[in-house]
Amino acid sequence: MNKNILIVGGGYVGLYTALRLQKKLRSQMRSGDVTITIIDPQSYMTYQPFLPEAAAGSLSPRHMVAPLRRILPKVRILNGTVTKVNHSERTVTFQPAEGESREVAYDVIVMAVGSISRTLPIPGLTDIGIGFKEVGEAIALRNRVLHLLDVAESTDDPEVRRRALTFVFVGAGFAGVEALAELEDMARDSTKYYRNITPADIRWVLVEASNRILPEVGPEMGRWTLEQLRERGIDVRMETRLESCVGGHVVLSDGAEFDAETLVWTAGVKPSPVVNSTDLPVDERGRIKTTTMLTVAGVDGAFAAGDAAGVPDVTNPGEYCAPNAQHAVRQAKVLADNIIHYLRGEQLVDYRHKYVGSVAGLGLHQGVANVYGVKLRGFPAWFMHRTYHLSRVPTLNRKVRVVVDWTLALFFKRETISLGEMEHPRDEFRAAVAANRR
Ligand SMILES: Cc1cc2nc3c(=O)[nH]c(=O)nc-3n(C[C@H](O)[C@H](O)[C@H](O)COP(=O)(O)OP(=O)(O)OC[C@H]3O[C@@H](n4cnc5c(N)ncnc54)[C@H](O)[C@@H]3O)c2cc1C
Repeated sequence: MNKNILIVGGGYVGLYTALRLQKKLRSQMRSGDVTITIIDPQSYMTYQPFLPEAAAGSLSPRHMVAPLRRILPKVRILNGTVTKVNHSERTVTFQPAEGESREVAYDVIVMAVGSISRTLPIPGLTDIGIGFKEVGEAIALRNRVLHLLDVAESTDDPEVRRRALTFVFVGAGFAGVEALAELEDMARDSTKYYRNITPADIRWVLVEASNRILPEVGPEMGRWTLEQLRERGIDVRMETRLESCVGGHVVLSDGAEFDAETLVWTAGVKPSPVVNSTDLPVDERGRIKTTTMLTVAGVDGAFAAGDAAGVPDVTNPGEYCAPNAQHAVRQAKVLADNIIHYLRGEQLVDYRHKYVGSVAGLGLHQGVANVYGVKLRGFPAWFMHRTYHLSRVPTLNRKVRVVVDWTLALFFKRETISLGEMEHPRDEFRAAVAANRR
């Protein structure tokens, strides 16, 4: 009998689960006994740890995404969003990129919908804030920083210049610290092409509500990172909150007030909102309630993993697995195996992985790492960061492209042009039409 496996979300968990199922259920898929479908608004998986390098121009954004249709030729890919899950009826409501929504039926569902930025109701945030989770955001941020250097160089107004050259990042986890450090490094490098801008003219502000920076690498390496950022002239404000940013006027809880053209919000994540439109159980933190075997608690035929799932950490009783790629990739492997066990009526196995620490890039040749208790800083950590992520980025094709990008960057100067007009490709044509009317 045909079994339909539906994977909602084609990110880390979705892609790696489908890859393993595609490999292990090859004959069943060929005979039509098993069908696998992925639904995701994007046709690619984003390798998020490379977003900061893509923003800094060390990597082509196209090389940090994995095209789902090419990697998963046996899997049906539907582009659009799941807006509702009715597990008791074994259907989801699917809103395609264009046209009417429709129901898609399944036998087994995998909830792999990841997370979105966790925001707060801060005045002005919706108008000027930008997140840092998507390729589009990384590209836009890169274009913006370079464009604002052009603005600052070309204006006579000191207020406009100061505002253009002020960049605020809120949240000192992985995403905030790496994005800020990489962009600061790129901007510093770019100033040599400007006559009136030196690195000291650019103000970088990192705002963090807690007293910890980069908790993923532990307290000691976090403190070192803080010192390193401050030595680079970055204004790091610990135990400080963003109170307001209406019209770009930033007000912080320590009393500081200044204008900034750019505010990047990286202060945590929360499960994708579709989790609330399901009949699946949800825990107190809004995640899908998941067992150690990556099944949805108390429900038959439903699995979950990654940022959207509250997976108990069997290596640390009472705690949950943190939302990171290290867990997501490993969970996907166990999840795929457990789906096969489930289809065969076999005993499922527990997901067990002890967090091994982390690596972070802080700009070209700079990094920090704490892996298996080995603490590294500077160049060795940066080298480890690159080799680790190179080993993890999906497919040989992407690995080769990433290596080529890095090798070219060794021999040629970094690209420092803003292609911001790509975000408004019709402006030029509209202006031409208007000019012809005159
Ligand atoms: C800048 C940055 C740097 C990071 N660096 C690291 C690092 O160095 N190490 C580390 O371990 N982790 C890192 N992470 C975290 C890591 O990327 C995430 O933990 C990981 O992506 C989680 O995998 P996931 O499959 O749960 O979610 P994702 O990979 O985010 O995938 C979720 C997918 O679901 C799709 N989706 C969402 N809602 C719907 C819906 N309603 N219908 C259909 N599809 C939907 C999304 O489009 C997305 O493709 C970083 C994250 C960021 C943002």
